[in-house]
Amino acid sequence: MTDALAAADPAVIREVLDGRWAAVRRRARELGADPRFAVEYGEDTETQRARVLERMQVLAEEGYSRLGFPTGYGGSNDIGGSITGFEMLAMGDLSLLVKAGVQWGLFGGSILHLGTERHHDAYLADLIELRALGCFAMTETGHGSDVASLRTTATFDPDRDEFVVCTPDVDARKEYIGNAARDGHLAVVFAQLVTQGETQGVHAFVVPIRDADGHPMPGVRIEDCGLKAGLNGVDNGRLYFDDVRIPRDNLLNRYADVDRDGTYRTSIENKTKRFFTMLGTLVQGRISVAGGAASATKVALAVAVRYGDRRRQFAGPDGDEIRVLDYLAHQRRLLPALAKTYALHFAQSELVAGLHETTPNLDAPLDERPAEHADRRELEARAAGLKAIATWHATATIQTCREACGGAGYLAANRLPGLKADTDVFTTFEGDNTVLLQLVAKELLTGYRDHFGELDAMGTALFVAEQTVETVVERVGGRRLLQRIKDATSGGGDESGVLDRSWHAEVFEWRERHLLETLARRLRKAASADDPFAVFNDAQDHLLAAARAHVDSVLLAAFVHGLEQLPPGAERDLLEATCDLFALSTIEAERGLIQEHGRLTAARSKAVIATVNELCHRLRPHARTLVDAFGVPEAALAAPIAFD
Ligand SMILES: Cc1cc2nc3c(=O)[nH]c(=O)nc-3n(C[C@H](O)[C@H](O)[C@H](O)COP(=O)(O)OP(=O)(O)OC[C@H]3O[C@@H](n4cnc5c(N)ncnc54)[C@H](O)[C@@H]3O)c2cc1C
Repeated sequence: MTDALAAADPAVIREVLDGRWAAVRRRARELGADPRFAVEYGEDTETQRARVLERMQVLAEEGYSRLGFPTGYGGSNDIGGSITGFEMLAMGDLSLLVKAGVQWGLFGGSILHLGTERHHDAYLADLIELRALGCFAMTETGHGSDVASLRTTATFDPDRDEFVVCTPDVDARKEYIGNAARDGHLAVVFAQLVTQGETQGVHAFVVPIRDADGHPMPGVRIEDCGLKAGLNGVDNGRLYFDDVRIPRDNLLNRYADVDRDGTYRTSIENKTKRFFTMLGTLVQGRISVAGGAASATKVALAVAVRYGDRRRQFAGPDGDEIRVLDYLAHQRRLLPALAKTYALHFAQSELVAGLHETTPNLDAPLDERPAEHADRRELEARAAGLKAIATWHATATIQTCREACGGAGYLAANRLPGLKADTDVFTTFEGDNTVLLQLVAKELLTGYRDHFGELDAMGTALFVAEQTVETVVERVGGRRLLQRIKDATSGGGDESGVLDRSWHAEVFEWRERHLLETLARRLRKAASADDPFAVFNDAQDHLLAAARAHVDSVLLAAFVHGLEQLPPGAERDLLEATCDLFALSTIEAERGLIQEHGRLTAARSKAVIATVNELCHRLRPHARTLVDAFGVPEAALAAPIAFD
């Protein structure tokens, strides 16, 4: 029997994967092949830091840094392009990716989105061209996830028309700050704004931290965080401010300002909502990390699949040694992970397009930009969910790929140890994953409501308690997302085969709906409980499971939508089978819950397992096509074991 999938051309699949920002991806691949970006390993910290800074300079010269900024300052007003470029950088030097992310995404992004014209005029052109290097100083030793509780203060002094920035104690020093230990001259510092004796919550301020000669500014103390598990080309440091004076104008005043006499003014009266609105404008960082994680995963899979395709161990019945990828156990480790990487790629592409569409035109004057796009809240929740799932997937998959390459996978030259060490922290920065998934569940429970920002854990529980379970479940995201699949495909139900896409959609939707419904019921008890916090806390595992189920629905919907962009033919058939593998391996992993609730008979459960095996077998000859379609530049692959 001929294998119809054999005709699948990776270039055709790549075209669809490259999507809307294909030109940016092509350019990034060319840059990835440039010897100036060659993958290095085993260098000491100082050499790495110097090299990464040089590479930043090349990126700036190549115009890479311009993409996400307004044209008036030398930018290209293309947010989607800038995130896509960032995603592609992650195939090479991950320290470069993170340092570029700090400079242009976090530091530049906060000046752009939280600042106004005076800040744009003062800093944007310089930071794009790397004449001004900056930090994003939010986290403190004492508070990381709970940003609203930061303790650095910026107190307005009307006598001198200045803010006085102060680190009250060691717990409030800024911690892990990228670009701080060596290169940064400026920092966007997040601090509690105090004026006229009142604290107005966390705001962002531009604080010079080094002078032109590179010495710390008066009152600023800088420490090096030292050697890290990875990303040692990034100079993370600690910052202390000992009554550092900055002009009033250094407050990034897009959402709030302080008058000459110290009067506080804001366009968003509610403190919590203001805070969440400010943080929301920085969502691109989270989206970028999700994309970066997916790219690093693709590199690891490309190395492991290419190696597994030629590495032989143990003779088969005919005496020839077997390629390790021909073993089912090996396929089981790599191919479902490969399928999920496709799902994440398509979901990420949708997210980037969503960000691009919902970001106001950067070239329009600030006062003509709409305050907030209606879909923005949902986009932020999706970004949080995908960031968590994509970075956990990267950590797990890169480890699996390392093991799948045996001892060779442990050699630094084969890239996997570096990928592992450098991407590990992606699960923590730009929002700890466990904290982010709780945010996703809360958004689902409250239906992306405007006042969500005002609801803390307990407020969410009480809000949910006030509503009927039906109201909560009515807004379940997966239902809306997956309806199209169910409408487009016939069948479903227990009678259909396990390869029926409509059945996959039904099971995904049921899982999400069930978890949310039962979660809502549990949280309703908060209304009459003596200790509503305990009710919420006791349901935390449930909250996380609901968020995961929701992200799985997002992934399935995005995968199906993505593969539909291919015309009928071998490539589409290949992606259909890959999507089946994603859907069924997810159902397989979750079958305990599904069976417990009578949604899967024992016979059907066994059929799911058998079909995952069959799909692994079917896709095995095409694993190389699937990883080649990612278009990892050979220079970025860099691992000797990836080549014959
Ligand atoms: C290499 C690196 C670079 C960084 N770069 C920067 C930077 O440039 N600028 C910057 O501002 N920050 C930066 N950070 C900081 C980073 O964003 C924080 O580390 C992150 O937000 C987590 O905060 P934390 O470390 O205080 O962890 P914590 O918030 O203390 O979390 C510790 C653990 O507690 C759990 N936890 C916390 N709250 C809850 C809850 N409500 N329910 C259940 N579990 C909970 C978390 O899941 C986590 O496992 C960087 C960090 C690193 C490691």
